[in-house]
Amino acid sequence: MKLLFAAAEIFPYAKTGGLADVAQALPATLEKQIDVLSVMPLYDFIDREKFTLTAMNESFQITLGKDIYEISLFEGMNQGVRTLFVYEATLCDCVAPYGNKNGDYLSNDIRFGVFSKTVVILSQIFNIDVLHLNDWHTALAALWAKELLPELHVVFTIHNLAFQGYFPKESMERLGLREYYFTPEGIEFWGGMNCMKAGIAYSDVVTTVSPSYAKEILLPEFGCGLEGYLKVHSPKLHGILNGIDTILFDPLTDPALPKNYGPGKLANKKNNKILFCKEYVLKDTDKPLIVFIGRFTEQKGLDIIIEALPKLLTLKLNFVILGEGDEAMAEALKIASRNYDNFSIRFGYDESLSHRMYSAADFILMPSRFEPCGLNQLISLRYGTIPIVNDVGGLHDSVRDIDDTSSSICGQGIVLSKLSSNAIVRSAKRSLQFFADTKHFSKISKANMHCDVSFKDSAKSYLKLYGKTL
Ligand code: ADP
Repeated sequence: MKLLFAAAEIFPYAKTGGLADVAQALPATLEKQIDVLSVMPLYDFIDREKFTLTAMNESFQITLGKDIYEISLFEGMNQGVRTLFVYEATLCDCVAPYGNKNGDYLSNDIRFGVFSKTVVILSQIFNIDVLHLNDWHTALAALWAKELLPELHVVFTIHNLAFQGYFPKESMERLGLREYYFTPEGIEFWGGMNCMKAGIAYSDVVTTVSPSYAKEILLPEFGCGLEGYLKVHSPKLHGILNGIDTILFDPLTDPALPKNYGPGKLANKKNNKILFCKEYVLKDTDKPLIVFIGRFTEQKGLDIIIEALPKLLTLKLNFVILGEGDEAMAEALKIASRNYDNFSIRFGYDESLSHRMYSAADFILMPSRFEPCGLNQLISLRYGTIPIVNDVGGLHDSVRDIDDTSSSICGQGIVLSKLSSNAIVRSAKRSLQFFADTKHFSKISKANMHCDVSFKDSAKSYLKLYGKTL
């Protein structure tokens, strides 16, 4: 079986979130069993020399609507996975994959149309049996595959239904898509076109990144307007929990950490916490350290954290936030940080700092309103850091409360009783009590480090689904 795995971002070349991690880790796991090729755009900000990317002889043109686009190909190796890079000027002339500080690029319909059509052509060139598409950026490839390569088997994974690739109707013409598709059963959505719908309708199998999210997206509360459409296609919808790359995320070897540690050497985790608190001028390193790492959005519940701050920060704890996003939220955080000496923020995206935070923290806070899977809690388990989570999606599937005795296996974290600022404060108080019980705390922290958060089991589920499509 030969697989082509297509994504708009793959770690370490380009990463805005969990998609890049998964697009690196899943192919690397699958590669041990089947022939895998990955493909992503060669954005201008990717350092070709640093990653030893070389030009291939292959180059061709594709047509979208009235326009012709020149495609050239590059390749590199990523943790044993041969990775193709698509270069085309409209697609790759950018400072970040989807947009800049002014918002999403207006040409995203064409940019990812170019990428999606190219992916289908590559499937033909490389004799691919199964094409695995990820999120709306690649979803139109499912539609073009049905037209151009009907024998190709297509799997489409929804990583986040909140981003659907919605464009005005005129984009259909620019992309050369026939009017035939512009129906509610096709890709029409509220008078415009919706790329996500193409992935759902024209793929042989649709997956999403946790079993709970697969059920939730059939409900109006989580379906982002596509719940009815997804219900129609639900016989081919599956939920498979994400994993992480346990080699890249390994506290025993992680080069970003001042001190490495494993479940038998937790003293070094404490050292990392002391160093981190000193660096961020947080006094009293004996207090529990809670962190938040992620996008400043309502999805991640950052607005609820902000509401909770005045009560939260009067507790005996230190709190550090790393992230970027909504400017009003960033401003509110800045103001709060001036008033409390147990609260620090770092704005921006910093991979190495995030690793140090996973290792230094006692707890990670994730009050997400919805969470397709969430990787932060999986990384935290690996680093012996206790997740405090809302009970949704992949968080529900990967974290049980420490007081939940329904299974003989102990729980991994603190699960919010409901989603509100008061519930966050209550969970923080519970965390303080739990932290004070040093024996229990260290037992759970060590047990968490032994959890299997790798892609091993999930890769088996994907292989089964690939096999079904053939
Ligand atoms: P998302 O919904 O943003 O994709 P996930 O939990 O699936 O969230 O994955 C987030 C990934 O991005 C994790 O690897 C996390 O450590 C990383 N991450 C998020 N924000 C930042 C940041 N500001 N700096 C560094 N890494 C970050």
